[in-house]
Amino acid sequence: MQDYLSQLNEAQRLPVLQKEGPMIVIAGAGSGKTRVLTLRIAYLMQQGVDPFNILALTFTNKAAREMKKRIADIVGQSEAKNLWMGTFHSVFARLLRMEADKLGYPSNFTIYDSQDSQRLTSAIIKEMGLDKDVYKYKQIFSRISSMKNNLITVRAYFANPELIEADEMARRPRFGEIYREYVERCFKAGAMDFDDLLLKTNELINRFPDVLAKYQHRFQYILVDEYQDTNHSQYLIVKALSDKFQNICVVGDDAQSIYAFRGANINNILNFQRDYDNVQAYRLEQNYRSTKNIVEAANSIIEHNKTKLDKVVWTSNTDGPKIVVHRLMSDAEEGRYVASSIWENKMNHQLTNDKFAILYRTNAQSRAMEDALRKRDIPYRIYGGLSFYQRKEVKDVLSYLRLIVNPKDEEALKRVINYPARGIGATTMDKLIVAAKQYDRSIFEVIENIDRVDININGSTKTKLRNFATMIKSFQALEETQNVFELTEYVIKKSALLTELKKDGTQEGISRIENIEELLNGMRDFVEGQKEVDEARGSLAEFLEDVALATDLDNDKGDQDRVSLMTIHLSKGLEFPYLYIVGLEEDLFPSAMSMNTREELEEERRLFYVALTRAEHQAYLTYTLSRYRWGKLVDAEPSRFINEIDEKYLEYTTPMDDYRYKSALTDHLWDEPDKSKLRQSKPKNGTPPTVNKPSEEQIRKLRKMRPVSTADSNANRKPGFEGKLEAGMIVEHARFGRGEVVNLEGVGGERKAEINFKVGGLKKLLLRFAKLDVV
Ligand code: ATP
Ligand code: MG
Repeated sequence: MQDYLSQLNEAQRLPVLQKEGPMIVIAGAGSGKTRVLTLRIAYLMQQGVDPFNILALTFTNKAAREMKKRIADIVGQSEAKNLWMGTFHSVFARLLRMEADKLGYPSNFTIYDSQDSQRLTSAIIKEMGLDKDVYKYKQIFSRISSMKNNLITVRAYFANPELIEADEMARRPRFGEIYREYVERCFKAGAMDFDDLLLKTNELINRFPDVLAKYQHRFQYILVDEYQDTNHSQYLIVKALSDKFQNICVVGDDAQSIYAFRGANINNILNFQRDYDNVQAYRLEQNYRSTKNIVEAANSIIEHNKTKLDKVVWTSNTDGPKIVVHRLMSDAEEGRYVASSIWENKMNHQLTNDKFAILYRTNAQSRAMEDALRKRDIPYRIYGGLSFYQRKEVKDVLSYLRLIVNPKDEEALKRVINYPARGIGATTMDKLIVAAKQYDRSIFEVIENIDRVDININGSTKTKLRNFATMIKSFQALEETQNVFELTEYVIKKSALLTELKKDGTQEGISRIENIEELLNGMRDFVEGQKEVDEARGSLAEFLEDVALATDLDNDKGDQDRVSLMTIHLSKGLEFPYLYIVGLEEDLFPSAMSMNTREELEEERRLFYVALTRAEHQAYLTYTLSRYRWGKLVDAEPSRFINEIDEKYLEYTTPMDDYRYKSALTDHLWDEPDKSKLRQSKPKNGTPPTVNKPSEEQIRKLRKMRPVSTADSNANRKPGFEGKLEAGMIVEHARFGRGEVVNLEGVGGERKAEINFKVGGLKKLLLRFAKLDVV
């Protein structure tokens, strides 16, 4: 039963076994922070703490699910399911539903995703007659978001001359009005946006001491992963809830703080010891994830940052292969290189696709990677683009469902009131919005009372509006008896949505229908799942909540063997045996937009640290000499971050000339260069694209390059080694890492070992050549 504690080292065991009091674990990547948090929860439960009294906050819901599963393995499913675990947003959305009436919200409030929020912002800017080039809706919305995350309400905004002045200086003097309108519209629509989930929680616990006391009592043990990336609003919630019992355990790594641009405050971690009494601080130093080369290279990067806590990270893992640095001509070539390297690694080491990840700084870089992977038939999955639930057709269906739950939901209404077309045009919609404002009601309420309100809409349009409202109400009646799946099937038929999509016979139209089928499949799973689950969750409202808060990562069923593609920001907390970090070029990474101050540059560097520390076994860094940016081919030069890595951890493989040489040798591995692209890349005036000459430093490094070779020298081998080997032994292989000897056969020079490698699986190696060490 206690056996799981043996999965921890000494240093990790201490925070797990400290039952009470505030504590912080600050430690580098891969040192087991998340594992500590997980096992600490299991330990608390074994010590008799009621799972109802434990709250764990994670970076993704997927991480929470995995943790819960792990805990369930130790303490049992029935106990584990009562834990409150999830992202800040999902946990507090749940709490707010129970207390919504106190804030004047319906308990079935809608959650606006960022798309809804941005659409609303954009609509308001338009309604106010403002210049959309000055008032850019994305910027305005991000300012609204930052206000909320700093708990600056509309009232607080107008009471603060400095803020007002700042907006005047920025030539958007009417920001405050937009903010006010935005907040009012959300409220009237019975909707909260993502930031509201935190802001309103703060409001709730500040305004209602009894509510605060209730949850302080409920959450006697609070645990937070990735604490370095909490924002002010999240910080205050954690602080308030943990104030009574002070059983708060946070884990994080200041070197991995990468969300300052979204308001995360690294001071939350730095000041933790000041915020609580008698804080126990723990350090973990041993990295279990990565090879020595990767750990030490990562250390050498972060050394360049001035603002950092002193930390040691080391590993007893093997050196592993050096980090490959590879230079290419264009992004298309970069894609081909990565795809072909993945292919080679797969073949050479018999690996599945899910052992590989490609990380990039910006989403746009995925295209070249996708093209190349597709050509090689390597299945992949992109995270972080539009989430499945944000695709137009899916969202249209969901909007009908949202209206059923909450007819006040303005964004949902706007999406579907005239889709499929019902002859309710934009002018009618504008009139409805004006009337809603006049009567201080939601749009749906105006429609319901269309005969009684003072509005200039003709009779036939009024009938159409009435029909629409009747249809929604008939769906509502059905919701009482039907489950989510049945209801949705009915809705897409009755609303003529399916017919509309079927009319469109294009490939795109077909794939839209497939997506809706996929949505229905998901609903069926949800309904089935609910039957097995404890609590009486399972209503349409709950389905919608899950969906609204699902990040792309959460939809990952984990049953697909695919290469993962994502931005570095999304990769936090994850790990992959083989990792490609692409586009390591100045102005791209570090990003041109994040080089104005040392702080910004340091955040970019931390981002690079996060990226590299995702790699378990082998990392590849690529850069190109030219790249299309904003539609133009521009010269690129290698990122300073490459130079910042201590050279001894790097292997500069074939750049230009030798690269062609290598490609000739392995011709079958390479695609024909895409000639159309090459032609395009010439600027119109006929001069060929120029490329930067490598710098002196670069040349010096390039001279040292060596071809990639698998057959390393066996000079270090201890003599008589083969004779000592027996089944059951754990060995280290220079490339494959750690594995267990399963079987031995043959004699002398023909002696072979069958080894089950952690990463590569079962392999048979000829001992004469195999580079093995007994662990
Ligand atoms: P990050 O900073 O990237 O979030 P982390 O500190 O949370 O990393 P974990 O993800 O908990 O680190 O652990 C990294 C890897 O090392 C995981 O695969 C984990 O299972 C493994 N690991 C952690 N501790 C041990 C241990 N004591 N023995 C063996 N493996 C361990
Ligand atoms: Mg972690």
